[in-house]
Amino acid sequence: MATALISHPACRWHEMGALHPECPERTDVITDKLLSLRLLDMLAQYDAPDVTREQLLRVHSASYLQWLQDRLPHSGYSDIDLDTRMNPKTLLAAHRAAGAAVLATDLVATGRAENAFCNIRPPGHHATSDTAMGFCFFNNVAVGAAHALAEHPFERVAILDFDVHHGNGTDVIFENDPRVMVCSLFQRDLYPFSSGQSHASKGINVALPAGCGGQEMRGAVEETWLPALEGFRPEMIFVSAGFDAHVCDEISDLVFSDSDFRWLSELTLSIAATYAGGHLVSTLEGGYDLDSLARCAAAHVRILAGL
Ligand SMILES: [Zn+2]
Repeated sequence: MATALISHPACRWHEMGALHPECPERTDVITDKLLSLRLLDMLAQYDAPDVTREQLLRVHSASYLQWLQDRLPHSGYSDIDLDTRMNPKTLLAAHRAAGAAVLATDLVATGRAENAFCNIRPPGHHATSDTAMGFCFFNNVAVGAAHALAEHPFERVAILDFDVHHGNGTDVIFENDPRVMVCSLFQRDLYPFSSGQSHASKGINVALPAGCGGQEMRGAVEETWLPALEGFRPEMIFVSAGFDAHVCDEISDLVFSDSDFRWLSELTLSIAATYAGGHLVSTLEGGYDLDSLARCAAAHVRILAGL
């Protein structure tokens, strides 16, 4: 059974201006790398469907969906925060990105795919139920996890987030839902400055200091995530796959190498194999140095596919 690769041309229609790091080329370079490594034909490729309103309403408020619609510009840009803006095509892209997570969940949950990677943008893990922020509009991984719980016979799912930024949106969306465990690693005191240690966060968080490398990360993740997952025993694994902790990525001060991302990819796959019958859906979050993003995301997909 193949690994599914899900994307859509609309994901590149959303753009936030020249020189913005969250750019359309991000998904292109991953596809190009998979092609050059001769991996593309070995994957089951799907176009992402549009997410439905019902699927979005599992994690976002109706008033937020209306607010986004009202902010959509007819031309030019509509600024959401200092780093996040909408162009006229933003919601077309965001609907496909969230729809990719839903399709991936259906394919994996019904055994039509071994696992799946969603090569999508805009990313999602900063989006809360009613706030767009940090380049994110719909929380794609949360939409997928909520779909798994609503439409498939799963009672517990875990979200593993290795983006360098704390997935504050995912954390807060599920903070009162005992069916969802969120395990994160991120750079401490970096955007969104939530640190994951404040308020009622029940996330299983590894907050790493600036300058932290892969060895320290590996030990902390094994000590923190694995006992929690052993106690929780998730039936399906979701991954917020961000590659912006790479040493070449200027958006952060962590110094992970390609091999650290391979280790994280192998770890998430082994967690899925141990607890969840291999059920794993991975969605692209950050990663802004195009060369290391392409290499590490392609290696992630290669590992998922067992190639
Ligand atoms: Zn990030």
